Amino acid sequence: ATPGIRPLVAGNWKMNGSLAMASALVGALKGRQGNVDLLVCPPFPYLAAVGAALAGSKLALGAQDCHADASGAHTGDVAAPMLADLGCSYVILGHSERRTDHGETSGMVAAKAQAALAAGLTAIICVGETEAQRNAGEELKIVEKQIVESVPSGANAGNTVIAYEPVWAIGTGKTPTAADVEAMHRHIRALLKSRVTGGAGMRILYGGSVKPSNAAELMAVAEVNGALVGGASLKAEDFWGIAEGA
Ligand code: PGA
Repeated sequence: ATPGIRPLVAGNWKMNGSLAMASALVGALKGRQGNVDLLVCPPFPYLAAVGAALAGSKLALGAQDCHADASGAHTGDVAAPMLADLGCSYVILGHSERRTDHGETSGMVAAKAQAALAAGLTAIICVGETEAQRNAGEELKIVEKQIVESVPSGANAGNTVIAYEPVWAIGTGKTPTAADVEAMHRHIRALLKSRVTGGAGMRILYGGSVKPSNAAELMAVAEVNGALVGGASLKAEDFWGIAEGA
């Protein structure tokens, strides 16, 4: 938590779900309103249907990637203005699975984030160290480098969110200790304050095996301003339990 920053709990569905699951999940979450902002990020094919289902609710819609160009000859890719057109207000960029599966570098993430901001979207820029990097004591240095290289000029507290996700905590059931999360988030806050306009107010999410049973402890950590949730965002009660914990 940070005084003055309203938490964001974001569900990253990854490549999961179906049209039926998407409408059931949104139907279950739609009428609820807690003390946090809630965001769902379904796969591209379900964005339009989910957008229609959550119309009039407090739930926000986001995507999981975009291209760095606004249009053009890029078969299979999706441009940021198309996401805005569908009612998205957020896009997740540079998730570790994108960095691994698609070789996305921090430079590419910065270019995508630039495109997202130009389209009026809020970029959720993901960073995080591997287990080997943490064991080598390099996690602060690695994450600092990722932020320096992935956050574009023009980023500010209103259009950019940082998500700290240790790669070894994603989908593993393992989480860092509260003290380790605090050390990282304080480091990121100091970096944002020194480098980014309004960096004092930018949201810094924690992600990696967040579930209802650990959400309250993680969300109470200094400079943790919400969660990016994978597996537990696929069930309405789990996702809501995390939102209540935040
Ligand atoms: P997880 O995924 O919650 O399933 O660990 C988090 C993420 O990858 O955003």
